[in-house]
Amino acid sequence: MAVRRMRYIPDPVLRERTRKVRDFGDSSLRKLADDLIDSMRHYNGVGLAANQIGSPRRVCVIQLPEDEAPTTLVNLEITRKEGEREVVEGCLSLPGWQARIPRAEKVWARAAGLDGKPIRYKGATDLLAQALEHECDHLDGKLYVDYLRSQDDLYEVTPGDEEEGEGEGDASAEG
Ligand SMILES: [Zn+2]
Repeated sequence: MAVRRMRYIPDPVLRERTRKVRDFGDSSLRKLADDLIDSMRHYNGVGLAANQIGSPRRVCVIQLPEDEAPTTLVNLEITRKEGEREVVEGCLSLPGWQARIPRAEKVWARAAGLDGKPIRYKGATDLLAQALEHECDHLDGKLYVDYLRSQDDLYEVTPGDEEEGEGEGDASAEG
């Protein structure tokens, strides 16, 4: 287990679409998941995608403030979205910035656990929905700033001074 170096914009790995995992028996998959969890905790995120620490594999981890344990999601895909809302979002790969962007109200997603067993989210809402979209975007090579509707919606933040999202914690919206 190890904290790995965070990749920041404009590192091209953040713009690469990650590759699906096919071999769940590969021991390096578990090592990657452990490193993702350690790194997510070290950098204080609620989620982290593999390309943010330089791996091209379609793996991410999510741990919301209320979660007792992190969840590792392999081959995460959003299958359906419903509604639209405005959220405040930040990203560990763009430190010092936050933005108001549109996200879905409800998200359906599928993934697999480290054991290859299916994990499904049906109509996820709030911070979970946001985190699923944010991490899935990373795995597709997208960043939250791609959704900016106006330059005014992007602003600088100083550590400890992040604007609170609606009932969604604080800087914890970063992943
Ligand atoms: Zn991010």
